[in-house]
Amino acid sequence: MKEKSIEVICPQCQTKKIIKIPNYFFQNKESESIKIQIKRGMFCDHEFVAFIDRNGKIMGYETFDVILDLSEFLKYTDKEKLFIPNILKIFGHICVLHTFHAILTLTPIIILRSELDQNYAKELTYLINALLPEDYKSEMMIVSNISEEKFKNAKIRDGLVLSPLGLIANTPWNQKTLKYEIQLLEKVLKILDPKMQLLILQGEFEIVLHHASFITEKIKSKSYFEEDLITEFNMQFKMQIDREYLNLLKDIVLFRFKGDIKQIKNRSLANLKKSLW
Ligand SMILES: [Zn+2]
Repeated sequence: MKEKSIEVICPQCQTKKIIKIPNYFFQNKESESIKIQIKRGMFCDHEFVAFIDRNGKIMGYETFDVILDLSEFLKYTDKEKLFIPNILKIFGHICVLHTFHAILTLTPIIILRSELDQNYAKELTYLINALLPEDYKSEMMIVSNISEEKFKNAKIRDGLVLSPLGLIANTPWNQKTLKYEIQLLEKVLKILDPKMQLLILQGEFEIVLHHASFITEKIKSKSYFEEDLITEFNMQFKMQIDREYLNLLKDIVLFRFKGDIKQIKNRSLANLKKSLW
């Protein structure tokens, strides 16, 4: 058997279908779960992501409310270069959201592909580096390929592993809902010119990285409860942030700026520990 058959059930309308995933996706010991995007029309009218463990068992689903119509964009794109609408079409939007997260966290991106799949590494490297804000361009990001045979024993723990099949074989982070990235993608797709989309993204990334470096500096000398850190943040930037956004910043602090996020404490957990004593 060269592939695993897995029964997937749509979390919204309960339509059942069997999907087949090549076995090599399950063979790397460092990969804890595989995420697969089920596109609208593949099963039913819904779009969702299925989380599958290494034994091929479904661990959960995540629905997407984003409705993307790319037909308008694809007319505009350049044949030589990749733009956001092209990678959405090739990899699917779950891969694009995690790619945004990888850019922000300076995480290497690895494309898991078979010999039959086209090689996108060079174009994707170019696109990602175009998205890096000017101040961060000195640390170039490289997208590499890995073949199905090499994947089994590869060290992938610290990398984002994508596949043109719309599958994600590894992420170094635990975040499931990439809420900020979804909002950003929606915002960017309202802009028709693909070159302008890149500029807007680059500007947004610059702001987020600036926010994360503020947090990195704050926690260098003392620890904070999440709530207090959010209050200081709100005072500094005159904007309200929520926990989800703080979680994104924590990932950037941890992976890109190598900050000690243990300095950010959760008050309810601390209270719980106290009451246990
Ligand atoms: Zn459905």
